[in-house]
Amino acid sequence: MTPPDAPSPDRPVTGTMDEYHDMVQYARSTSMAVDDSVVLMPMKAMADLAAWAVATGRANAVWPFTFGLACCAIEMMALASSRFDLDRIGSLVFRGSPRQCDLMIVAGTVTYKMGLCVERLWHQMAEPRYVVSMGACATNSGPYSAHGYHVMRGVDLVIPVNVYTPGCPPRPETLLESILTLQKQIKTGQDVEIRRMWERAHRAQAERLKKAAEVSESAPVLVAASAAPQA
Ligand code: SF4
Repeated sequence: MTPPDAPSPDRPVTGTMDEYHDMVQYARSTSMAVDDSVVLMPMKAMADLAAWAVATGRANAVWPFTFGLACCAIEMMALASSRFDLDRIGSLVFRGSPRQCDLMIVAGTVTYKMGLCVERLWHQMAEPRYVVSMGACATNSGPYSAHGYHVMRGVDLVIPVNVYTPGCPPRPETLLESILTLQKQIKTGQDVEIRRMWERAHRAQAERLKKAAEVSESAPVLVAASAAPQA
């Protein structure tokens, strides 16, 4: 029996019973019976089955943090209520402590002062953790971009974002689509790639800022030297 295709962006794990039976069938077909009580399963089949189970479990058990910053949070609350009924996609029990959550929906305006708290709360969440940036404010400062000196130009300056949700505010259906996109990312392993890319970019940015700080520290010395009277 040929093994089921590996998960990929074109063929994500769907988590259906058919797929489960395919995986079990594949594992059984590659197993070898030593006697009536002992069955040896090859490592590859075992690893495939375990990877499938972990991806399906993680994607269908995303627990968001009860956390809102501004008007977008009202739409997030609507998504959890009976009209839109977020629970029907098999996950999303809103929790009150970051230590019990693995999804942060950044719903609202992130000021520079609040950005530090957002970062700290994200660090308190369990790994693997995911972030959805909800609305224009969290994504790129939105309506504050021209005159809001106090608003961060995107929450991805401090934490990695898996999915950006457009709108001011986005409707609950838009947020639901973002969460379905996040589930697809988890099932295909794209979330790991996104996290790596953000960490690389974040390190490069930190290096640039460090160099800029060194230059600005040495600038007064250069000015003073050039201003010194010539002998
Ligand atoms: S994007 Fe619009 S609705 Fe959302 S927090 Fe900003 S101003 Fe409010």
